[in-house]
This record gives sequence, structure tokens and C-alpha cells, in this order.
Amino acid sequence: MGRLIWRVARVVEARDETPRARSILLSVPDWPGHLPGQRVDVRLTAEDGYQAQRSYSLASAPADPWLMLTVERVQGGEVSPYLTDELRAGDALELRGPIGGYFVWDTARGGPLLLLAGGSGMVPLMSMLRHRKRLRQAGGRVVPARLLYSCRTETDILYRRELDALAADPAVGVWYALTRAQPGDQADFRRRIDLAMLRSVAWGPEAEPAIFVCGGHGFVEAAASALLALGHAADRIRTERFGPSGGMA
Ligand SMILES: Cc1cc2nc3c(=O)[nH]c(=O)nc-3n(C[C@H](O)[C@H](O)[C@H](O)COP(=O)(O)OP(=O)(O)OC[C@H]3O[C@@H](n4cnc5c(N)ncnc54)[C@H](O)[C@@H]3O)c2cc1C
Repeated sequence: MGRLIWRVARVVEARDETPRARSILLSVPDWPGHLPGQRVDVRLTAEDGYQAQRSYSLASAPADPWLMLTVERVQGGEVSPYLTDELRAGDALELRGPIGGYFVWDTARGGPLLLLAGGSGMVPLMSMLRHRKRLRQAGGRVVPARLLYSCRTETDILYRRELDALAADPAVGVWYALTRAQPGDQADFRRRIDLAMLRSVAWGPEAEPAIFVCGGHGFVEAAASALLALGHAADRIRTERFGPSGGMA
């Protein structure tokens, strides 16, 4: 952390991902590069000098032309409503990173990839899926991947079109679990993630998958306990919790 410096990022594009979430494409001078799963700190400064900073995962693959953040609006929050509702193309914001050396996937960690996402916990897992796809397009090894994605309703699913396109690849499986499904919502499961669900979609321990779990505290606890109950070794399961973060700089 000591060597990280604050950089001024320029917003190239801000686009709605869902009614509650927005993806922000950023151009960052001298960006040192990142690994899938890493995050940045974003710092906002008010006119009176008050500063607030929060962590946001990177959704872009390392080789993508811009950095992408995807932010979900937390009602009454200090930082996220500004990023989802106010920020426009051409605006600047401060960030530092990349941060994190544990919740990262690179080819050295191998595969297959087993990804479990809850809500905005999909963001760093999207970076992994995008990286995997780029490697494949570049003629690299095919890494099988399975994603179980838990959201409240169908409209809350991030990157829906891209995920559906990825699922057309026979080496990729995508399942949606909706916890507050609305009438007409398409879902593979209509409940919170549980052992039976994982048993039906996940690889068993014999496949030795690299497992990444990301979401709120409750989601991560439930997913990690179910994985252990299925016999996966603790050291193959990497978790990241999207609880409240940051505060004053
Ligand atoms: C490692 C890490 C990576 C993260 N990556 C992302 C990301 O990619 N996309 C994203 O949208 N968010 C991400 N977050 C969450 C993000 O850092 C902020 O916590 C979130 O945007 C809320 O900030 P805020 O200033 O709007 O709310 P605050 O002003 O901090 O909080 C307002 C109220 O909401 C509650 N709250 C705060 N955060 C959350 C939350 N995440 N879920 C539920 N309640 C909350 C607080 O307890 C408080 O009561 C990440 C968090 C961590 C720790």
C-alpha cells in the first residue's frame, strides 16, 4: 500500500448496467496493470475539502482498453449514489491501486474456475471471466468455468447479455438464483444459495477447481460453508466480502 499513489482517472463512459447499478469506464494515465479480482480505492473530495473513500473491484480484464468499475447504489450512501447518479463522461475522480494479492486469479492458479457471486460481488468475477475469454481468443488453454450468481430479481443481474453470450460456450455454465424473484422472472433457482443447489451445479472436490466467492457477508458465509460441506479443501476457496468499506481518507 505504501507505494500506491493517487491517480486522476478520466471517465470515458458511464452506462446503466441495471436500474440500480452503473458501469464506469475510466482512462488512467500510467496505470500499472492489474490481475483479475483486484480492486481500487476511489476518493471523492467535496468543495469544502471533505473526503470520502471506498473500495471498488475492477470488472475489466487486464488487457481491456479501459478500467471498468461497476457500482451498485446503496440507498442513503455517501459515495455510491454520486458514482451511479451524478458522474458523467469527462469527469475526473481519484483512485489508487491495484490492491489485493489474495482474491486474484491468473493462469498459474489454473482451473477449472468455480465462481459464486452474490449481487455486486459479480464485479471481480466478471474480470476473471473476461480474462479467461481473452486468453482463449489469444489461442491459450480453454479453462472451463461455472458461475452461480445470486441476485434479488432478474433486473438486478449485472452483465446479463455478456453472461448469456459466455454461456453459449460449452466450456462455460451460468446459473441464476433469484432470492426475490418477480412474476415472469427467468431463474434456475428461486431461493438463497444452499447445499443442494451447489451439489447440482458445482464441480466436486475431485475436479480441484479454483473457487472464488464474492458478495455480502451472509452470502459468503453460506456459500463457503456449503462448499466445505461438499468436501472442497479450504485452501482452494478464496472469498471476498463486500461489506461497508472506507470512511474518511
Ligand atoms: C473489497 C471491496 C470491494 C468492493 N467492490 C464493490 C464493487 O465492485 N461494486 C460495488 O457496488 N460496491 C463494492 N464494494 C462496496 C463499496 O466499497 C461501498 O461500501 C458501497 O458502494 C457503499 O458505499 P456508500 O458510501 O454509498 O455507503 P456508506 O455511506 O458507506 O453506507 C451507507 C449505509 O449502507 C450500508 N452499506 C454500506 N455498504 C454496503 C453494502 N455494500 N451493502 C449493503 N449495505 C451497505 C452502511 O452500513 C450504511 O448503513 C466493495 C467493498 C469492498 C470492501
